[in-house]
Amino acid sequence: MQVGFDCEEAVWLRSALLEIAATLYSDRRPVMVRQWIDPVRLHDPEPVGHRFLFLVAVGGDDRPASPDIDDVVDAFRAAGWEAHEPRYGREPGTGWAEARREDFKTSIDAGAGPGVLTFTGWTPVVFTTGRQLRQPQHTLSTVYGVLCRECHGWGACLDCDGTGRGTEPGSYGRCWCHGGQGGPGACIECGLSGQITESSPWHLLKSYGFADADAPDADADGPDAFRMPPIEKAHGSNIDALTDVAHRTCACGEFRSRWSNQLREADDHLVSLFTGRCRGCAKQRAYAFMLPHRKLPPPPPPPSPPPCPRCAQVPVPLVRGLHFPGSATMRALELGLVEASDRGCEVRPDDPNWRCPACGHAWQDADERRRARILRSILADLPAS
Ligand SMILES: [Zn+2]
Ligand SMILES: [Zn+2]
Ligand SMILES: [Zn+2]
Ligand SMILES: [Zn+2]
Repeated sequence: MQVGFDCEEAVWLRSALLEIAATLYSDRRPVMVRQWIDPVRLHDPEPVGHRFLFLVAVGGDDRPASPDIDDVVDAFRAAGWEAHEPRYGREPGTGWAEARREDFKTSIDAGAGPGVLTFTGWTPVVFTTGRQLRQPQHTLSTVYGVLCRECHGWGACLDCDGTGRGTEPGSYGRCWCHGGQGGPGACIECGLSGQITESSPWHLLKSYGFADADAPDADADGPDAFRMPPIEKAHGSNIDALTDVAHRTCACGEFRSRWSNQLREADDHLVSLFTGRCRGCAKQRAYAFMLPHRKLPPPPPPPSPPPCPRCAQVPVPLVRGLHFPGSATMRALELGLVEASDRGCEVRPDDPNWRCPACGHAWQDADERRRARILRSILADLPAS
């Protein structure tokens, strides 16, 4: 059986993504940047099924004025998808969320500055062999790092189909995968996850080619020591630049990557930087483009904090999870613009999220998005030290 982009799942997802994207801008059409297929295999190289993927870009050069990643999450919910609240990145403007509807999923990515806002949507795996298989944990384009080479993303032991049962003489009815950390039936290399990510054990990172793993102790080569790629002059808009990048291949031959975008103002032009990890060889890829100068929109003004319910003074947001605070958070703490939550990393549903410096009262305000927006604007706008 042949499957193509005219199959029911692909047609539905493609139009669902374009419709949601169209609700975000009234004056501009969303752009289908690329559509592609992830083949899915078991032991044999011959695929047993496929997944269809679509990369849609919205807006491009005028975020974060509108729409914000929060608006995108709301648009997916309004269209009947389940979506968790966005997570915000360290760079102002960056964020990520995932929406799901049955076995369809979409990753929503917002770039830094007014960088591009993209949706990458994927269908469930459509099987072509007639054999009914469950859905794999991951395929090539859905991983956060690279696909596990042993199980090709299934997360299960392919020798026993995840049952843990062995049929070889002398196996006593147990597959060899019983000895693995993930338990019987689980892939020994990746546990159950189907992927190798930056948080996988060091020996795996090294053998999969994660370059950062070569020098785990070399401070000089930390994430800040990023080398800017040569700036190319080729594009009229950031979406054109993204379309170009999405069609380039890594030296290893793979094109799949999860791209982050940063758009910055330089002297008389804009610089758009794309970075991503190759899903084939795990190497970092980066491209930079000079775009025609436009005045970037200022970020929208943050909302006002909720007044203290006891004394009506202006409170400060509480921040949690401070095992590894970023440098901006550290500075905001020093300046008293934010305070550390007493609970540290432990998160409970009724945790206070604001504290009043005037009277000391701490309380929980239900509007978590307002707090997140205010916090982001504090961190983005710190006075120079
Ligand atoms: Zn097994
Ligand atoms: Zn595996
Ligand atoms: Zn590569
Ligand atoms: Zn107060």
